[in-house]
Amino acid sequence: MGNIAYSKYLDYFVIILPMQIMKFGGSSVANADRIRNVANIVISKSKLEEDKPVVVVSAMKGVTDALIRAASTAGKGDSSYKSILKDMMRIHYEAADTLFSQKTIHSEICGSLNPLFKELEDVLRGVFLIKECSPRTNDLISGFGERLSCLIIAAYISSDHARAEMVDARTIIRTDNRYGRATVDFETTAQLVRKRLKKNNIIRVVTGFISSTANGIATTLGRNGSDYTASLLGAALNASSVEIWTDVDGVFTADPRIVSTAWVIEEISFQEAMEMSFFGAEVIHPYTLLPVIEKKIPVYIKNTLNPSAPGTRIAKNVSRKNQPITGIASIDNVSMITIEGGDMIGMPGIINQIFSSISNSGANIIMISQASSEHSVCLILRYEDAHKALKNLKKDLSDAISSRIIRSVKITDALEIIAIIGDNMRGQIGICGKLFNSLGKADVNILAIAQGSTELNISIVISNKDEIDAILAIHKAFLE
Ligand code: ASP
Ligand code: MG
Repeated sequence: MGNIAYSKYLDYFVIILPMQIMKFGGSSVANADRIRNVANIVISKSKLEEDKPVVVVSAMKGVTDALIRAASTAGKGDSSYKSILKDMMRIHYEAADTLFSQKTIHSEICGSLNPLFKELEDVLRGVFLIKECSPRTNDLISGFGERLSCLIIAAYISSDHARAEMVDARTIIRTDNRYGRATVDFETTAQLVRKRLKKNNIIRVVTGFISSTANGIATTLGRNGSDYTASLLGAALNASSVEIWTDVDGVFTADPRIVSTAWVIEEISFQEAMEMSFFGAEVIHPYTLLPVIEKKIPVYIKNTLNPSAPGTRIAKNVSRKNQPITGIASIDNVSMITIEGGDMIGMPGIINQIFSSISNSGANIIMISQASSEHSVCLILRYEDAHKALKNLKKDLSDAISSRIIRSVKITDALEIIAIIGDNMRGQIGICGKLFNSLGKADVNILAIAQGSTELNISIVISNKDEIDAILAIHKAFLE
C-alpha cells in the first residue's frame, strides 16, 4: 500500500472508530479546583482509551448570566456593565493564577485571555455607546464564556502532560440566524465536525453552546445548549457514548431534596429521560437528546464530585422488571386556565381559536386536559406564560364570550404538576387507582389529570402547598 492510499485508509479508519464525548457543565468548571478535577477525569479516561475523548465545556458557573446582564446593562446606556466585566475578568484570571504556577505558561495563557477580554470590552462599549443590544450582538456576547473557559481548560490539560487543543465550535456547528436559539444545519455540521475532529491522538476541548451561520456570524444554541453541542458531536462522530458530567449522581427517582429515600436510577430509556426532564428533572435538557436518540448512542449522567459512581445510563433499551414507574418529576408554580363553554362540542373552530391565540401570545402549554363532556378545557402553563396567554385569549375570544359560546375564561395560580413516568406503565392496569389512593390517603386534592397517549406519563395538577405531601406519598406507594 502506498503512502497516500495508506493515509486515506487511515483517515477512513479513524472516522469510524468509536469516540467518546465528555461534556462538563458550568458548575463542574466553576473554579480552579473544579477545573483540576475535570482535567483528572479527562486525563485518566484518555489513558484508558486508545482514542482521545472529545471534551465539551460550558462557561464557568454564572458567567453566561453575567454576560447577558452586562449586555443588557450596556444596552441601556448604563456604564455599570464595566463592573460586571471586571468581576468576570477576576474569576478567569484567578483561575488562571491558581492553575498555572509556571511563569512561562501563565504568561502564555494570559496572552490568550487578554485579547479575548479586549474584544469583549470593545463590543460592550459599542453596545453602551449606541444604547442598543440586538439579538445578534447578544449572541456574540453571551458566547464569550465558553471561549474563555475552553481556552483555560485546554491549556491546563496540555500543561498536565497530556496533549490537548481547543476547538471553537463556531467553526463546526453550523446554524441559521435565529439568534438566541439557532436551528442547526445537521448535514453541514456533521461534515464539518467529522473533518475537524477526526484526528484522535489528541484531546479536543470544544466550546459548548456556541455556533455560527454560513457567513460566520456568531449564534448560540439556546440556554443550557452545551448538552446539545455534546449530543450533536456524538451523533456526527458516531460516538460510542456521550457522558454528561454534572454535580449530581445521576437521574433520581424523585427530587432528593424532597424525598430523602430517592435513589439514582441505574438505567432509563431515552423517552423516559425526555419526559423526566420535560417535567422538571434538571439533569438534562429535554430536546438535546434528539441527535443521539436517532443513532441509539447511550448517554451517561455522571458526577464530577463522585466520578467512580456509576451514574445513570440513558439508552434505547433498558431492562427493568417489577417496577411500574421509573421516576417522579414535577414543575411548580404553574397556573391553570379553564375555559368553560356552553357547547364547545360542535365547535372545532373554537378549540383552534384557543390554541392559535395562545401560540400567538408566545406562551407554551405544558399540559392539556379536557373533560369528556367537552364542556371545559384546562390548560396548564407556567405562571408568566399563563398570564400572557390569558390576556390574549380574552381579546381573541371576545366574540365567542359575548355570544355565550364560551361561558368563562378563568385562571388559577399557585399550582404544581406532578408527573409519574415509566415505560412499564404501558398497558398496566391499576396504576391510576394506586396513584389516587396514595394521594387520597395523604389528603391531597387533584385538580386535573392527563395521560399521554404513549401511556408513559400520568400527570396530575395539585395545589403548590401539597407538593411535598404528594411526592412523598407517590414515592412511597410506587418506589419504596
Ligand atoms: N453557558 C451556557 C448557559 O449557561 C450553556 C450551558 O451551560 O450549557 O446557558
Ligand atoms: Mg448549564
